Amino acid sequence: MSLRLHAPVVLPCDESCTVVRDAVVDIVDGRITHVGPISSAPAFDGEVRSLTGILLPGLVNTHAHSPMTVLRGLGSDLPLLRWLQEEIWPNEGRMTAQDVGTGMLLGAVEMLRHGVTTSAEMYFHGPELVSSVLEAGSRVVFGGAILDVPGMSWQSLTDDISSWIDSDGLRFGPGERVELAYGPHSAYTLSAAQLSAIAVEARARGALFMVHVAESPFEDEAVRAEYGSVPALLKASDVLGGRVLSAHSVHLSDDDIALYASFGVGVAHCPGSNAKLASGIARVPEMLAAGVPVGLGTDGPASNDDLDLFEEARLAGLLARVSTMDATVLGAARALLMATRGGAAALGRSDIGALEAGRWGDVVHIAADDPAFATGLDAPDSQLLANLVWGSGSRRVTDVWVAGDHVVAGGESTRVDRGEAQAAVSAVAARLRSA
Ligand SMILES: [Zn+2]
Repeated sequence: MSLRLHAPVVLPCDESCTVVRDAVVDIVDGRITHVGPISSAPAFDGEVRSLTGILLPGLVNTHAHSPMTVLRGLGSDLPLLRWLQEEIWPNEGRMTAQDVGTGMLLGAVEMLRHGVTTSAEMYFHGPELVSSVLEAGSRVVFGGAILDVPGMSWQSLTDDISSWIDSDGLRFGPGERVELAYGPHSAYTLSAAQLSAIAVEARARGALFMVHVAESPFEDEAVRAEYGSVPALLKASDVLGGRVLSAHSVHLSDDDIALYASFGVGVAHCPGSNAKLASGIARVPEMLAAGVPVGLGTDGPASNDDLDLFEEARLAGLLARVSTMDATVLGAARALLMATRGGAAALGRSDIGALEAGRWGDVVHIAADDPAFATGLDAPDSQLLANLVWGSGSRRVTDVWVAGDHVVAGGESTRVDRGEAQAAVSAVAARLRSA
């Protein structure tokens, strides 16, 4: 398969967020082979598609629990603990493996329509979740959730993911759409010794260890009293050193940030969820300045609620600015990079998150037919990036390719009937309500 995409604007999302005019993205056998101005592009033998807007890499959602589309809106105005105890946990307890697949299918379709081609999911029932991702044609890093709570065995949850990796490999599926990972929930649902044992298994397989850290100020009080902080506990438990993704990471000290920088720990910043649940504002400018790889996450659709990573990019910029009272602290380009190559880096992936030769052909097209771009695609680079990040966001995503496969056309999935996916979620929600 050979596909050349040609558009007035291409944003490769390289380190300096270059804007390339009148340019092409070439994809052969799922991977990008060339990106650059049409004037200097090599001869191309394959299908050529001319587009009228902006091409950019598929966005990388570094923290999600997308099957929770079936729980969207529940207890929406409750504080975190009451929300979990009164609404979320009782309903999750009644969800079947098939419900998880149903919820993930709609979540994957919804994300693709917002230009999100990869999501890092921490959840249960991996086989059903992964099969929905493959049906929609998106990409997933699936971290099997691991908790030590009544009714669950942390050891067998850990063994399940280990044996899955040992039989199918760390990455598999068409275009390597699936990566398996470990999802130890947190330092308040697992002991230090358990976290340490899970990290050994993850590191032995080169797998990502994804964990919730310091989301709200009070959840980790016991850990803080004993170790000083959750990052300090992770260090003391020999968890750091492999691929580690720390979700939320709202309440970090200067020492915690320095620790993350020295071990290359990735952070999944979830500004929408943190604001909605009144958890706080993560210290993103300080983390970026220290060299911590920071990506963006939507968190679950019951706590955000729209799985739109462009909105997270906008919020990340706005919250960083208002919390520091400094309008220069996080610009449109940096916010866009956090949603793309920064997210890939936080996941420890160099094969997604940017339009560069060798990476997978995960590409999003945003049409310019929108008031946000009325000042013109030929506006100066900084104005164009501002119009995209602060103005248009995802609302004009028309086409999406994953590993060169056209999975969204005209704003709708090419593979899944969205009406049917929504109806299936309605049926699950009705059953959960009546239980
Ligand atoms: Zn989470």
